[in-house]
Amino acid sequence: MWQFRIRAVSRPLGALLLLLTIAGLTDRRAEAQPPKRVALVGGMLLTGYEVPPIHHAAILIEGNTIVAAAPASEVKIPADAQVIDTSGRTMMPGLIETHAHLITLGHGNYATWFPWIAAHGGDQKLRQVMETAAKELLWAGVTTAVDLGAPLQPSLDIRDRINKGQAVGPHLLMSGPWISRGQTGPMQEGFGGVNVATPDAAAAQVEKLAAAGVDTIKAHAGLTADDYTAIVKAAHAHGLKVQAHVYAERDTRNALEAGIDILTHVGSAGTAPPYSAELIRDIVNAGRPVVVTAAHRSWIYPDTAAFPERLQNPVLKELYPPDIYDEVQNSLKTWWTLGYFARTDREMFYRERGVKQFIESGAVMGLGTDSGTPMNFHSEALWREIKVHVDMGMTPTHAIGAATRVNAQIIGKSRETGTLEPGKHADVIVVEGNPLFDIVALSRVAIVMKDGVVYKGAATQSKTRATSNGQ
Ligand SMILES: [Zn+2]
Ligand SMILES: [Zn+2]
Repeated sequence: MWQFRIRAVSRPLGALLLLLTIAGLTDRRAEAQPPKRVALVGGMLLTGYEVPPIHHAAILIEGNTIVAAAPASEVKIPADAQVIDTSGRTMMPGLIETHAHLITLGHGNYATWFPWIAAHGGDQKLRQVMETAAKELLWAGVTTAVDLGAPLQPSLDIRDRINKGQAVGPHLLMSGPWISRGQTGPMQEGFGGVNVATPDAAAAQVEKLAAAGVDTIKAHAGLTADDYTAIVKAAHAHGLKVQAHVYAERDTRNALEAGIDILTHVGSAGTAPPYSAELIRDIVNAGRPVVVTAAHRSWIYPDTAAFPERLQNPVLKELYPPDIYDEVQNSLKTWWTLGYFARTDREMFYRERGVKQFIESGAVMGLGTDSGTPMNFHSEALWREIKVHVDMGMTPTHAIGAATRVNAQIIGKSRETGTLEPGKHADVIVVEGNPLFDIVALSRVAIVMKDGVVYKGAATQSKTRATSNGQ
């Protein structure tokens, strides 16, 4: 629990509490202990900036905060620090997923998945599903994730349970129900989407979500230009960013002009022909971030045809409760027939142009995956997305920066996370090998630290001088 104490108590306040403790004015002695120190030492360091790596580096952490990140020869490691040996591996910022769906786990068919949840415990099963997704994300090195569509209360519950240490997962930003117009069907119902009929109703829905405590707003399908404008105005009044789900050129244009903060999907790498040069130019000139969600249909389908064994990745069996594992596996038995992939031929035809139109334009590109959608497991969606961007022409350093530093900026969290430098939260991952040489190294996440706490990896792989609180 120490991480919450550290977060809650600033250093000057901590010092004051220490004095109060000495004076016998408070019995909350635990508050006054110095912050725990941890050092990650020896490996290559990627800071998240587009600069060369730092070799044989060290990161020193006090409590939940990075105090040094530099060549090991320049970092003085205090004698009481727990030292985690990262030699021969790569240290980098925890990944950020800007587009996840924690209520789905790669199941093939929304029309049977949500009724299955309802028939197997309802809200309690949904909570188990979301906790499974959160753990999958964290195990994959995702230390911050944005969920863009789920019923309201379960969304707030999983975020708050993680923050209180009652569940394990990334820092979560939750949109709750998306806002849409005229949408029906199992997806709309299962994800808890809310339809509006007027811009005023759209603004009122934003007010309701803001009052409930959501972290961001998802503008989904069918919305008009005036709807977007009303949503943006209401959301920005509460300091909330808006992500719009856009495919068609006209919707993308409307969302851009209404001031939507992040244009997500933007054609999803081939769902539609590439956009006009004029629209791309206007997106670039506006500096408006795009998140292409490229991999989830047009790459995952052929990748699965080539290696269907990926559907039984052992990490799924390790992390999923057995009944959920069986249900997901059953839904994927004839995965090539699933309705979700019905347009894959067309998408594969356009997919390269769909991604390259943004990479080659110099647009601000974040990375997000629509993780949880059919066959798009939280445990691997982000490294697959990053690999697609590298295969389509991004340098590995740029792609890693997009998934860390740029993502933190576009979701409004760059003060806390996204780079490894003094003052940032200690959201750090260690991967096997060199991702600048082989980007798939990002699939081999050995250690995951969030807010200075190691959740995955260090117990068996660290050499520690001090072992208190070893995970
Ligand atoms: Zn969407
Ligand atoms: Zn989505």
